[in-house]
Amino acid sequence: MFQEDRDELQFDWCMIGDIGEGRPTLGPETTVAIYRMMQFSLRDVLIKEYGVESADRLFFAAGKRAGIELYRNNAADCETFDKLVTKLQQLFLGLKVGIFRVEGANHKSGQYVFTMAEDLDCSGLPVSEETVCTFDEGLIAGVLYGFTGKEFSVREIDCWCSGERICRFEVKMLK
Ligand SMILES: [Zn+2]
Repeated sequence: MFQEDRDELQFDWCMIGDIGEGRPTLGPETTVAIYRMMQFSLRDVLIKEYGVESADRLFFAAGKRAGIELYRNNAADCETFDKLVTKLQQLFLGLKVGIFRVEGANHKSGQYVFTMAEDLDCSGLPVSEETVCTFDEGLIAGVLYGFTGKEFSVREIDCWCSGERICRFEVKMLK
């Protein structure tokens, strides 16, 4: 599963495993602190080894792959954009990722503004004048790729860490 070299990404929902069987006592949930410990220590190593730009690119790519699989396994039955949004709101709330909203949608130009309140990645972090939710950017691009088959640029323009108290994502379909 993780010991073979590969030219194509292989992350698949089945890699998450049968949590019910594996954790009959502890169950499927953990804490935000442990999730952030994993994410930020990995990001720290990536930045040290490859630099900020490459680390961001790798984090975005991982988020995108995750988004594609999240869509395939949880939202592939959504026929319309509105149904997809409702499904994402339910999913992100149920999985305690954040409170997801659509602030703007222009289907003609393929431009959207999404927000995430109480975001799993950043809410409560020290303010640093940075936007940090690169994985989320990729996740949104992946879900939209799954839904439309098209590539999207996703840029976080506001973040808890930039002092906004909410994450805001500017989304554009690439021609
Ligand atoms: Zn953020």
